[in-house]
Amino acid sequence: KSKDTGKNKYTLFDKSMEDELNRNTIILEILRGAIENNEIYIKYQPQINIITNKIIGFEALMRIKSGKLGELSPSEFIPIAEESGLIVELGEWILKEACRFNKNLMELGYTPYIVSVNISSVQINRTGFITMLDHVLKETGIPPKYLELEITESTIVSSITDAVTLLNSLQDLGVRISLDDFGTGYSSLNYLTSMPINTLKIDKSFIDNISKNRKDSLIAEAIIQLAHSIDVEVIAEGVEYNEQLSVLKAKNCDIIQGYIYSKPLYPSRLLAILDSVQ
Ligand code: C2E
Ligand code: MG
Ligand code: MG
Ligand code: MG
Repeated sequence: KSKDTGKNKYTLFDKSMEDELNRNTIILEILRGAIENNEIYIKYQPQINIITNKIIGFEALMRIKSGKLGELSPSEFIPIAEESGLIVELGEWILKEACRFNKNLMELGYTPYIVSVNISSVQINRTGFITMLDHVLKETGIPPKYLELEITESTIVSSITDAVTLLNSLQDLGVRISLDDFGTGYSSLNYLTSMPINTLKIDKSFIDNISKNRKDSLIAEAIIQLAHSIDVEVIAEGVEYNEQLSVLKAKNCDIIQGYIYSKPLYPSRLLAILDSVQ
């Protein structure tokens, strides 16, 4: 990189860069063909009412398993999908499939659940997003109130006025809106009150030490109280231990999602669990 770097060092650096570049190129190819090659699928992670202990919904999480590289982590492939724009196509596939799955459950006679789908800022900022969403709702026949779109704070922060307009049109369609990874990056407590959102998801990083760190538990408490004061419900993400659950219960958190209850599941596994609790 710089001229005074030794030649060996330069070569090493170059080599790892090249490896990463190659891997990214392969992943890009995998993503490009993922739908056609059936290498994309969904796992669903249950969301539990903290008081009744019942499943109220589940989050759809994108999975890619390729013949070439095996199972890929979203933390690796989502950024590549976003940079390349392929997230638009893949995200639409996930949205459609998740809506179809949830509508199918209703038709099979299950009590209705809310399915949550992550929406990238790249998707939502494309013109035609609302039209696409409207089309998916009609095509799958899912009642809009059983679909929740998860967007992150940073999606909103990039343009607050536009965001409010956009969120309002989403609300007009009747879908639910959830603010994902809340508390990371920007502290948007200020304008939270001006946005039409239904759910707020406290990021796992605040939940991790909630039973050990007084500051984190106070932050969670403040977030929950503020959310409730504007009629927004709160999901705690990444709950793993009973100690965390106790604190969240004491602070009046509404819903939990985490390994303490269940990891993301294959659809058939989710169905088996729903059957056992129906
Ligand atoms: P996210 O939306 O915040 O999803 C929650 C992540 O936390 C998931 O990781 C989930 O498996 C993980 N998680 C849940 N409970 C626990 C727990 O108790 N312990 C631990 N250690 N982890 C837990 P995953 O599936 O790897 O997804 C990572 C991120 O990738 C998601 O974070 C989301 O930002 C993105 N992503 C996943 N699917 C999609 C998609 O369809 N579209 C878009 N745009 N992004 C997606
Ligand atoms: Mg999410
Ligand atoms: Mg999250
Ligand atoms: Mg997250």
